[in-house]
Amino acid sequence: MEKKGKQNKEAARKHWYSWYFEFNLLYRILIGLVLGIILGLLFKEKILWIAPLGDLFVRLLKMIMMPIILSTLIVGASSVSPANLGRVGIRVILFYLLTSAVAVLIGLLMGAVFQPSAELAGLAEAAGKEAAAPSLTQTLLNIIPTSIAQVVVNETILAVIFVSLIFGIGISYLRVSSDKRLKNAGETLFTIFDGTAEVMMLIIKGIMQYAPIGVLALVSVVFATNGPKVVGSLGIVTAACFIGYAIHIIVVYGGLIKVYGGLNIKRYFKDAKDPFITAFVTRSSNGTLPVSMEAAENLGVPKDIYAFSLPLGATINMDGTAIYQGVCATFIALSVWGHGFSFVQMGIIVVTATLASIGTAGVPGAGAIMLLLVLDSVGLPVTAGSAVAGAYAMILGIDALLDMGRTALNVTGDLACTTIVAKKMKELNLAKWKA
Ligand code: ASP
Repeated sequence: MEKKGKQNKEAARKHWYSWYFEFNLLYRILIGLVLGIILGLLFKEKILWIAPLGDLFVRLLKMIMMPIILSTLIVGASSVSPANLGRVGIRVILFYLLTSAVAVLIGLLMGAVFQPSAELAGLAEAAGKEAAAPSLTQTLLNIIPTSIAQVVVNETILAVIFVSLIFGIGISYLRVSSDKRLKNAGETLFTIFDGTAEVMMLIIKGIMQYAPIGVLALVSVVFATNGPKVVGSLGIVTAACFIGYAIHIIVVYGGLIKVYGGLNIKRYFKDAKDPFITAFVTRSSNGTLPVSMEAAENLGVPKDIYAFSLPLGATINMDGTAIYQGVCATFIALSVWGHGFSFVQMGIIVVTATLASIGTAGVPGAGAIMLLLVLDSVGLPVTAGSAVAGAYAMILGIDALLDMGRTALNVTGDLACTTIVAKKMKELNLAKWKA
């Protein structure tokens, strides 16, 4: 009796920091976001000392990124039976491609409506050095690595995904083998990677406790450096992108979830908002992956689907990036040529921007590099000292802000497609939707 009382006392003992951990994590992150904006706008460069606290958060997420991608994709691919793998894979990839193509169209539409353009006088000289875009063929060829060890060490995401998938598929064949030795080997490998994935999830839970502070620091730096610049023509580019992002969420995802999936939108966003906010502040789909997985779990998506589709989506499904590319290409064309794109050029942009968004790594700023590929395809190459380079440099100046929105959209899309595919395959745990 006395012992029990002592235990209760122990549990109830408060430390000066206990309130932090007891307070709802999402609210803590939101408070960090709002405080970050206020501090950034108020103190401008005087707040930049805070940057390392944000870098610490990004480093923690990046540290866990590669083991998470490797372990969850291997577990994902090996938990689906070889017969089912094709079924899930084809649906997920089709969804990803279609929504990305629609996203580029929305981006071009936003460009046509908002007509963003800038006075480029004096900018061409300031544009800086030529930036190089990887060729499309090279981007696609690079998916197949010449050395597995090298791509893991260099964190070449698409190639790592490719390797993890074929390795996982290999395990899934072993697991259903009629040869006992092979079956045992398959199960052992599966258990090892499954255990690794679980440990990674535990680590990420711990890292997320630091998220509110990391978010405050990251956001205040973005607003301290970009705050006053997001006015005028760049303000219009920003508005066009963000309205495009909002339309895509409401019309495309909302429509797909409600009309096609027959699911409750409000319930979806109840869990989707955690990865949404994490992506917004970290600007990395890959870094957000663990949070997206937890959301998928809470939405009742079976692990064998989300462990496969979310890491894949974090890399190849970039709807926000596709919208951004449509808007920015229009901005650059209007600023440089004084007129927009022809229908043929728009078609070219839809194809290249969809492929470019597949080739975009889920890390901060990657979309801006792939924009070079899109510009190149319609005769707007970024060359040193050119007007195109000037307009491109302007966009780069506010890239952090645009990247926040596009990354949030990117991960929301991965989760939406994953949920709908699970529903269509009758594998969604609908009991979780009643709560
Ligand atoms: N930051 C984006 C992401 O991680 C990629 C991009 O730059 O467009 O999803």
